[in-house]
Amino acid sequence: MELAKKRIGIDIGGTNIACGLVEEGQILYKTSLATNASEGKESVFNSIFKAVQMVLDNTETTIKQIAGIGVGVPGMVDMDTGVVKLAPNLYWEYVPVKEILEKKFKVPVVVDNDANAAALGEVLSGAGKGNKDVVCITIGTGIGAGLIINGKIHHGKSGGAGEFGHTIVNEKGPLCNCGSRGCLETLTSATAIVNKGKDILQQESDSILKDCIVEGQPLGAKEIFLAAQKGDKWCKEVIEESCKHLGMALANVVNLLNPEQIIVGGGVSQAGEALFRPLKKWVNYYSLDILNKDLSVDPAELGNDAGIIGAAGLIK
Ligand SMILES: [Zn+2]
Repeated sequence: MELAKKRIGIDIGGTNIACGLVEEGQILYKTSLATNASEGKESVFNSIFKAVQMVLDNTETTIKQIAGIGVGVPGMVDMDTGVVKLAPNLYWEYVPVKEILEKKFKVPVVVDNDANAAALGEVLSGAGKGNKDVVCITIGTGIGAGLIINGKIHHGKSGGAGEFGHTIVNEKGPLCNCGSRGCLETLTSATAIVNKGKDILQQESDSILKDCIVEGQPLGAKEIFLAAQKGDKWCKEVIEESCKHLGMALANVVNLLNPEQIIVGGGVSQAGEALFRPLKKWVNYYSLDILNKDLSVDPAELGNDAGIIGAAGLIK
């Protein structure tokens, strides 16, 4: 009998549930449904069941041909039981995801944090392919990280490793949701960059930021990068400060873990060289030369697919 090689990867986000059939790190087919977390967890699970069935039907695959289902969730997971202990975006507390899905589909299920799954995806078939010591960060509304140490996801004692966004880079900085001041997330997330942009729009009449906004579109980090590239001194300052804080936080990680690669994903990473050039400068400035000489800092390659591919990769 041929060993089942195909796996299903599910990436449960606050907005969408992405589900795909994966073979050898490649997505053969994928689909996406709205999460509608506010309608309760039964509704979310019904959408997950539906998404899995759609993937099977559309690829003419039976569940018996599947080696297992991997799931990434935006929260803290008990790796022994597959219970999601806390996922604020889904309004979940102690949800036995592994048990529910194994009962439904009768195949092995592995559940992990979504940032961990995305990091694994990038290492399996993205920017970090073949690398063993990788820090993969995502800069979006918040800032998260997945750590691959010696080829394996590092979970920590209670599954909470990777809370990189709460690295403190300025003890007198803005108050964070976590209760501390000056967490990286309050200074360098897309949300933080946009807030600084809003201040510029209100206070600096000589800024060209207003000319970079498409009419009817909300202000995003993208527009601030654009204005900076066009020479706006206020936006340049925001980007430089953001990269300095991010570089400082990453340098601490480099000194602690000696990774071979830092992968940066999420919306803000799409700024390209405008982000990576100053970021690399500050990482090198603050970290030990003996460690940063073997380090590369690269953009993520798989985008949203990293979550699906990594989730599937959780199945051994
Ligand atoms: Zn914090």
